[in-house]
Amino acid sequence: MNYLRVLDDWLMHRMCRSCGSPLVLQPDHCGLICPECSPALEAQFLDSDVCLVCGAPRIGGYDVCRRCRESPPAFESHRSVFLYHSLPAALIVDFKGRGHRQLSDYFAAVLADSIPPCDLLVPVPFRPESIRRRPFDPVSVVVKQLSRRCGIPWVQAMYRKKGRSQKSLNQEDRARNMAGAVGVRNSMGERLSGKIVCLVDDVFTTGATVHACAGVLLASGTRTVHARTIAMD
Ligand SMILES: [Zn+2]
Ligand SMILES: [Zn+2]
Repeated sequence: MNYLRVLDDWLMHRMCRSCGSPLVLQPDHCGLICPECSPALEAQFLDSDVCLVCGAPRIGGYDVCRRCRESPPAFESHRSVFLYHSLPAALIVDFKGRGHRQLSDYFAAVLADSIPPCDLLVPVPFRPESIRRRPFDPVSVVVKQLSRRCGIPWVQAMYRKKGRSQKSLNQEDRARNMAGAVGVRNSMGERLSGKIVCLVDDVFTTGATVHACAGVLLASGTRTVHARTIAMD
């Protein structure tokens, strides 16, 4: 039992975000969700009926969606664990916006099952502006725990230049905004050369961010790039 966590849950009067039961009574909880509610949340997982490339819910009889057929992304595959709605969306806001770091346990646990065979985990780099607004980089925190769970090394291989947030942009502007906004750190070329990398991010919206990151990684000698995110918007 993690006594520090029990003490912390007790001091903070933490409740399960799904059913409201006190978490101090359920010390084996993962983040802000009690063990009883975890399976119900997992039932919201994106099922296997998705585009084989981008992981979007499948529409029509094609294995690969129209968007991926018309302009294939730089990544080999992408899958999200959840659709970005209801409780999963609220949890991501709790984690990123309200600083509930303990949720990283939960996100790492649910992501772990979706990680493909790979040599390295690489977090999608944060915007330098956003790290000033919150005391931690949420994606790196999850990747660190994911690495421990999966036994796959992780490396902060990429950086992001200052730029506009993707939030308010449409699909075309997002792609334009991302081009040139990410890069591979100077010392990382050798580490990435010939490797299979899995990029990890929190939310997949149009895919412009992971597409841009995958393109840069491939240009630096990475053999294959997969991507996994917590939720798809
Ligand atoms: Zn619960
Ligand atoms: Zn697709």
